[in-house]
Parts: sequence; C-alpha cells; structure tokens
Amino acid sequence: MAENRRGFLKKGLAAGAAAGSLGFPMIAKAQTKFQWKMTTTWPAGTPFYQSGPGSAEAFAKRVAEMSDGRLTIKVFAAGELLPAFEGFDACSAGVVEMNHGVSYYWAGKTFAAQYFATVPFGMSFNGQHSWLQFGGGNELWREVYKPFKVIPFAIGCSGVQMTGWFKRPVNSVNDLKGLKMRIPGLAGKVYAELGVDVKLLPGGEIFPALERGVIDAAEWVGPYLDQRLGLQNAAKNYYTTGWHEPSTTSELVVNEAAYNKLPKDLQAIIKAAADATNQEGLLFLESKNAVALDELVNKHGVKIARLPDDVIKRLREVSYDIFAQAAAKDPMVKKVHDSYFAFKKKHDYWNQVSETTFQTTVRGNG
Ligand code: CA
Repeated sequence: MAENRRGFLKKGLAAGAAAGSLGFPMIAKAQTKFQWKMTTTWPAGTPFYQSGPGSAEAFAKRVAEMSDGRLTIKVFAAGELLPAFEGFDACSAGVVEMNHGVSYYWAGKTFAAQYFATVPFGMSFNGQHSWLQFGGGNELWREVYKPFKVIPFAIGCSGVQMTGWFKRPVNSVNDLKGLKMRIPGLAGKVYAELGVDVKLLPGGEIFPALERGVIDAAEWVGPYLDQRLGLQNAAKNYYTTGWHEPSTTSELVVNEAAYNKLPKDLQAIIKAAADATNQEGLLFLESKNAVALDELVNKHGVKIARLPDDVIKRLREVSYDIFAQAAAKDPMVKKVHDSYFAFKKKHDYWNQVSETTFQTTVRGNG
C-alpha cells in the first residue's frame, strides 16, 4: 500500500511538473493586467450615474474586485477628459475603451439606438429588461452598434421617470406651443411635433437654464435626482408620469477591438458586473425616490399633476406616427421596432393580468 502510494505521489508530482511547464504561458496570459479608461456623459459626483450605487464608478469598482485587479477602469466624468457627448465617438475610435451614457443621446447617429434606452409609451422595467435579456433585444442592440465598433451593455435602470418640471401649468396641447423644454430622445421629437422648442442639455446645465428662464420646462429623471439638481427651486409644477421614459436604461459601450483582446473570464466579468450594477441602480433609486417625493411635496410646496388626457392622447398619436415614419425609412429601425412591440404586446397582457391588477384593484393602500 505504502509503496503504491509513494508511486502514485511520484507520478502525480511528475505530472504536475509537466503541467506546470506546459501551463506556464497560460498562467502568464491570465495574469495580464488591463488598465482602461471610461468616459461618461455625467457631471462628477452625480448619484446613480457617475458615483455611488448603480453608477459608472460602482461598475468600475466591481470589475476591479471581481477580476482581482486584472482589469482596472479609470472613470472620467463629463468634461474631465472629454465633453459630455463626445465619449461615444472616442470609444468607437478606440481613444477610450469604454463610455457610459444613454443610447438615446446617439439618436442623430442611428435612430434605432433609442429603443434600447426607453420607448415613449413603451415597456417598464420588467418588460424592457426581459426583452433585452431574453427577447432578442441585446442581440439587436449589438447589431445596431456593429458599424460603430462598440459593444453595448445595459448598466443602470432608472425605472419610470417623471414627465418633468414646468414653470406654468399645462392645461391643453396649446400650452406646449413655443415652450422651451429640455428633453432628449424620441420624446423630444414628439414634443417638437407639438410645437415645443426642444433643447438637449447635459444634466449639469439644466438647473441654471430653468432658473434663468432660458428654458420653461425640463425633465431629468425622478424625485431623488431632480431634487439634487434643485429643480424644485426653479419650477413648482411637477408632472407625472413618464410617458416619455417608462424605464430608462443607461448604457455601457466597450470598444470592440479592446473587448476582443480580453480573456474570456474578463469578458464575462464585464457582463456580470453590468448586470449587477443595472439592478443595483434600480433598487437604489426606488428607495430614494419614495423619500424625495415626500420632501418635494411637503417641504418645498411642489404640486404633483398629471398631464390632461387630451395631451397624453396627442403625445401617443405623434409617438406612433414618428415610429412608423422612422421604420419606413430605415430597415434596422423596423427590425428593432417590430421586435420590441411584438414582445410588448405579449408582455402587456401578462402585465395587465398580474402586476397592474395587483397594483390597481387588489392591493389597496394601508
Ligand atoms: Ca430623463
């Protein structure tokens, strides 16, 4: 027995030594360190987007921890390395390896990009993210970004947003004519059809513009983040609910060539860290919004209002017109649109039977 064991150990050691020598190049490769740069569209310190739970920095920290320091990402806020809206092109060109923003900011490059951020009158978190993960959404997103040589990931969901802040109440469609409003994405196109003078301002410029009257109305996100910008001090009419952004999702884009140079485990870490950050952000904002809404109403005298039904009806009609026109012009838009709305149709029924019924008729308040 003892002899057999020694023999076995001897053979084992010999085998181990051989594997060690053969395995050396693999070990060396696994220990390669990658030091990347990420630009973002967000002002330094902005919660949820730039810093804290659910943010670009939270993602970078998670990746560094998960990879034990083999992939480190230095995060630059808007203006630190590049202006807010130049990071996507820089990532596409390989100047930086990553950019953190929202896909609707790139509507001018490709209309289809907007469907991956959020869709006016579209799906909320459950529907949107099940479409992305299991309904073909992520694959389509990759296809849309293929010409730009970047790979997209969902990395933070704000949940349903608020319609926004208006200096004067909106009582009819006519009240929108000539209104200067900060609003990005497809919703901006919809408002523009109704006569709104649409402005696309980065987050950091919204409060001064609204306070000084450069704009009459603005939307940002929801109670917690809007309160931090101080928007309650520039306007008092706070409209609900986010017809324009029912589930806005931040995006991470990764330069394709840089991504392809990573070993498979680091590629998997990027996906896992993005998924974790996506969920973390949603839960973080959900918890903060509840507190902030109460403060806005009860401490700051903010009035919560809902857009009149005829305004909502017009916004919906114009949204669907714009989708149809864009889909008719661009086969890629049609492909994404059809996928999104086919999924939505099925999901709506399930959502109606389950979540909506629970919220509106079963639960009650108490
Ligand atoms: Ca928004």
